[in-house]
Amino acid sequence: MPRILGVWVHAWDVADVGAETIAEELSRLGFTHVSMCVRYVEERQCWPGPNILFRNPRRLTYTSEESPFYWPVSEERYSKLPPPLRPRTSREYSGDVVGEFIEAVRARGLKAILWLPLLRFEAAVREDPSLAAVDVWGSVADYKRLFLCPSRKEVRNFIAVVVEDLLSRYEFDELELDYIRYPRPPVTYAYPKAVLSMLACLCPHCVARAEAAGIDTRELIRRLRAYGEEVRELINKVATYPLPSDADFTTSLLHDLMRILAEDPLVVRWLEFRASLIEEVVTLIRDKVKELNPKVTLSADLYPPSASWLVGQDYRRLGKLLDRVKTMLYTRQFGASPSRIPYEVALGLKQLRGCGADLIVGVGSWPPATVGDVVSDAEAALRAGAHGIYLYSYGWTPKAVLHEAAKLLSGSLRGVSHE
Ligand SMILES: [Zn+2]
Repeated sequence: MPRILGVWVHAWDVADVGAETIAEELSRLGFTHVSMCVRYVEERQCWPGPNILFRNPRRLTYTSEESPFYWPVSEERYSKLPPPLRPRTSREYSGDVVGEFIEAVRARGLKAILWLPLLRFEAAVREDPSLAAVDVWGSVADYKRLFLCPSRKEVRNFIAVVVEDLLSRYEFDELELDYIRYPRPPVTYAYPKAVLSMLACLCPHCVARAEAAGIDTRELIRRLRAYGEEVRELINKVATYPLPSDADFTTSLLHDLMRILAEDPLVVRWLEFRASLIEEVVTLIRDKVKELNPKVTLSADLYPPSASWLVGQDYRRLGKLLDRVKTMLYTRQFGASPSRIPYEVALGLKQLRGCGADLIVGVGSWPPATVGDVVSDAEAALRAGAHGIYLYSYGWTPKAVLHEAAKLLSGSLRGVSHE
C-alpha cells in the first residue's frame, strides 16, 4: 500500500522562494510527493482566508494571472489550434519554472507531479463563447469560472497537444489532472431541484451527441427547464428559502430530488451520458501517457464522491483509467463537517474497488486550520482507508503549521506513534 504525504505548491512560490530551497525543506519534513501547477487560473491567493502568502519573500498578497502556462511553450506546436485555445505563457514568471521544479524535487528523491488544470479556461471562453459548457438556458453554469465544453473537438485537440507537450518535453513522475469536469452552479439558498436544472452541458454539440446516443433531447430539455421553472413559480408566490441552518427543510428538498431521480430515467440517462464525455477526455489523456511515457502515473483531482455526479465525475468509470484519485475534503475553511471525511473516503474506496486506483485525501492546512485540525482530518482519512494525504498548500500554510503537521503525519504514515 503506498504511503503518500504530498503537498501542492504554486509556480510563483517555486520561482520566488527557489525550487531547491522548497525541495530541501519538504524532503526534510518527510514529504514524498510534490505537485506544482504547470498552468493555472485567476485566483485570489489564500482565499477564503487571510489572503497572506506565508512563505513568499517577494509578495505578501497575490491574485494569480488568468490561464498562464509556466513553461516556455513553442507556438509552432499549438499553431493548428483555434487562436482562443492557444497557450498564454505567464507574463510574471516567463522562465521554465516547470523544468526547475522537476529537477530540484527529483534531486531530493521526491516525486515530481505536474498538476494540470484543463477544462477551466476563462480567456478562451471569453474570446469564443461557443466553446463554453452551458446549462439548458445557454448560460455558463458557474460564476466567473468559465469552463470549456468537453465534447468539442477543438477542446479535445487542445488537451491532447498540452499533454503531448509536457510528456515529450519533461521526465517527471505523475500527471495530475484538475478541472476535468463540468462547472457546478454556484448557488446559495439552493433548491436541489433547481440545481438539477442548472447543470451543464447542453450546448448544441452536446445536444447532438446526446441525441446520437439515443437520448430524447427535446423531452430532456423540457424536463430540465420545468424543474427550474417550478422552483421559480413557488418562490414568486411564497418566498421561502432553504437556509443552511434549516436541516429539516433541506432534507425534505433532498428527499424530493431523490424521488425525481428515482422516477426520471431520462434525466438519469443524461447524467450518465455527461459522465461518459468526461471519461472520453480522460481516456484520450491516458492513451497519450501510455504512448509517450508509460512510466508516468496518471491521477486526477475529483469532487468528493457524494457530489461528483453533479460535475460529471464517475469514480467507477474514471478509476479504471487513473492510477490515483485525489479528493479535497477541506473542513474549517468552508465550515464543512469533519464527519464527512470517513464517509467520503469509504464511499470513494467502494466505488474504486477493483479499479486499482489509490485514493488520496487533500486536507486544507491554511487558516483557520490549526495543527490539531490538520492532523485530526488526516488521521480520520487514513483510518477510513485513504492511501495518503496531501496538504493544500505550501504557500497558504503558516510555517509552524506546515512543519508541525508534516512531522506528525510523516510519523503516522510510517506507522510510528507520535504520542
Ligand atoms: Zn457542450
